[in-house]
Amino acid sequence: MEERTPTIVRANSIVSQARSPAGPEPEAFALTGETISATGTLTELRERFPSAEVLDFGDSTIIPGLNDAHIHLALTAGDALHLDLSHEAVGDVPTLLGTIATEVGATSAGVWVKGSRYDDEKTGVVLRDELDRIAPETPVLVNHVAGHWGVVNSAGLRWLGIEESSTDPDGGRYDRYSDGRLNGKLIERALMNVLMPATARGDRFIPGDTVEDLQLGAARTIAKWNAAGLTSICDALISPQDIGIFSALRADDALGLRIGMLLSIDHYDKAADLGVGSGFGDYRLKLVGVKAFLDGAIGGRTCLLSEPFTDPNYQGVQTTSTTELRANVERVHSDGNRIGVHANGDAAIRLVLDAFEDVAARIPRPGLRHRIEHCSLIDDNILKRMNRLGAIAVPFAGYPGYHGGALNSWYGEERMERMFAHRSFLDAGVTVAGSSDYPCGPYQPLFGLQSLITRTGVDDGVTVGASQKVTAAEALSIFTLGSAEASGEESYKGRLAPGYLADFTVLGDNPLTIDPHGIAGIDVRATYVGGDEVYAG
Ligand SMILES: [Zn+2]
Repeated sequence: MEERTPTIVRANSIVSQARSPAGPEPEAFALTGETISATGTLTELRERFPSAEVLDFGDSTIIPGLNDAHIHLALTAGDALHLDLSHEAVGDVPTLLGTIATEVGATSAGVWVKGSRYDDEKTGVVLRDELDRIAPETPVLVNHVAGHWGVVNSAGLRWLGIEESSTDPDGGRYDRYSDGRLNGKLIERALMNVLMPATARGDRFIPGDTVEDLQLGAARTIAKWNAAGLTSICDALISPQDIGIFSALRADDALGLRIGMLLSIDHYDKAADLGVGSGFGDYRLKLVGVKAFLDGAIGGRTCLLSEPFTDPNYQGVQTTSTTELRANVERVHSDGNRIGVHANGDAAIRLVLDAFEDVAARIPRPGLRHRIEHCSLIDDNILKRMNRLGAIAVPFAGYPGYHGGALNSWYGEERMERMFAHRSFLDAGVTVAGSSDYPCGPYQPLFGLQSLITRTGVDDGVTVGASQKVTAAEALSIFTLGSAEASGEESYKGRLAPGYLADFTVLGDNPLTIDPHGIAGIDVRATYVGGDEVYAG
């Protein structure tokens, strides 16, 4: 076989995350095919590879490709096909309604207009009456950013056969104005039941996206994430259909991101029947493990706490029984597969650790490291137990930056010093990964880095849990090496060094040296995955 000619890559500054403690950073690196083959000075590499082309990024900074360890591509692929109603896109209610009105005008009769990522707390209240004024005939659905509810207009309610006299479905609610009239807000199962044909009760539901639509939506989303500097992600909840969508993109050469996948525990039987488990796949598309849930959310204030919220009688919810959790952990663990359990509150985390410790003692699987998704509220004992187990924490990176002072009012300042505890994880020797949990927080990894370093809300300037600040170098390591460890890929991802994948992000400024409050605003100039340019600014 003919030996491939390497390409030499240089920039004014390279952050390799591979240098010896006191050693210099490389001036350049050579890549051959998908991997980095050498690093050194430009002169050394030119002498070694005289026929190599030099890709010169001038005054840029090159960092290892950014890797989001917990994000939702499959769940949000459809959003790229619908209106973006996020607070960043539509700052207030009139703008939001104007955006919908324009789309209603351009949509043929009888077709739903859908929008996503609406944030009532930041943008303001939109209910049935507001939507009716701009869309008297066209059915409209406005999905909330957290995905647990949506608002429809009167045309939508008529389509769905929901009437003033309708009774609430199990596990859901048709919300109402204070005078008792339906306000269009469909909460939990009231929304889920009309979105998913398979579980819809009655024959009227909101038409879903086809597999082809979702493929297009995923491709658009991947392109956006590449433009933000991401080279790898772990999709934290996938179904067999999603694997098909990602595989089709790959076959079309449209998979510009390396995707790790956490398969929903609901589908684990199918994977187990096929003998498919953690590590199945390749460097592009790989099954990382299985995803299970134990408690509620941070933003919705439903996580399971040992001490109550401001309401002394409310400590959050456990969404899966302890018995079921233990059975799931035991099964996945015995099969030699990785499990990531969603646990936000300290009480939930303790239950997960009980289950992990139990199986580790009875069923040794050396080297198998499980994950705690979010792992939001910790204490010293939790840290010690995680360290002993080699368990991996995948906390929210962007929440301090995104929610700012609201977190203090939800959880109290004392508790905030133990939440999203990146500093504590590092100090305790617990592997900690970088994650946005988009759509629950902004997907931009540079926003995540800024939030980790500053712990300061970008809207209100309030610092939350200041003791958990990390340095810029630590933040970068969390979003590269930490995330690689969370998917078991640390031997070939997260460094610019020989033998590592040629995944890198080219930035207009060096995040390790500029004022950290400016990191989210750094220009992403290019993104490379396996030596291929997937984005150029
Ligand atoms: Zn998630």
